[in-house]
Amino acid sequence: MLACSHSPFGKGGLRGISPWQRLTQEHQCQRRGLLHLRNPACGFSVCGFIEWSLSPPIQSAYEENVMLFQKYKLTVSTPECLPSSVAVVAQVDFDDDLTQLLPYLNAEFAPCIYEPNIPFLRFRKSGKTFAIYPDKILINPLRDEDEAQEVFEWIRQFVNDVAERKQEIRPSTWSLSSLKPLDIFRLLPRTNCGLCKKQTCMAFAAAVATGEAGPDDCPPLRDDPQKRAELLKRFG
Ligand code: SF4
Repeated sequence: MLACSHSPFGKGGLRGISPWQRLTQEHQCQRRGLLHLRNPACGFSVCGFIEWSLSPPIQSAYEENVMLFQKYKLTVSTPECLPSSVAVVAQVDFDDDLTQLLPYLNAEFAPCIYEPNIPFLRFRKSGKTFAIYPDKILINPLRDEDEAQEVFEWIRQFVNDVAERKQEIRPSTWSLSSLKPLDIFRLLPRTNCGLCKKQTCMAFAAAVATGEAGPDDCPPLRDDPQKRAELLKRFG
């Protein structure tokens, strides 16, 4: 068993390494490091700081490949429109050009707002909004610089994973902005329970249509794998 001691989205354990496939690994010491695993059977990926009791494998899938974001600059700031906010925004600038990768990221992070003419990709994941441009990534809201570094580490690994698996992924130009709020509303539980911090499901649908919210921000939907899968399928 691998114990995930620390990750942007909590901690937990992974039992039965096989069929988990190791994608990247960075050793911090003999018992601790950053590991990125993927299960080819279900496509689920996990990335986090891992403490292991097994001898760490030596070979890395990326040894012969050039990783993206080898050089980057992470800056944390308070949103200009909310000077009294306790949350911060992270901007990561890098030399790589992600333009060609955006349709693949769009397919993997779906549902996203995708604007090929800018170009630009925006999506919500675990309560955070990610905006990916060819030469920078914006992430918010974040507690502080430590969380910014952790979340960027997660997306850095994910983007590298997508770049590595490009041949297996069908690129997508579909955009959430092609759906009207009413189309999204029809796919929601429509109970107006308010757990998404919106007063009504319709208000939530409007937020999803602009990329301000994502399907996972609706807890009843997030906690129902069947309904969630159906929604994501219909999102394209
Ligand atoms: S949490 Fe979901 S079901 Fe509840 S109001 Fe928001 S969108 Fe509607």
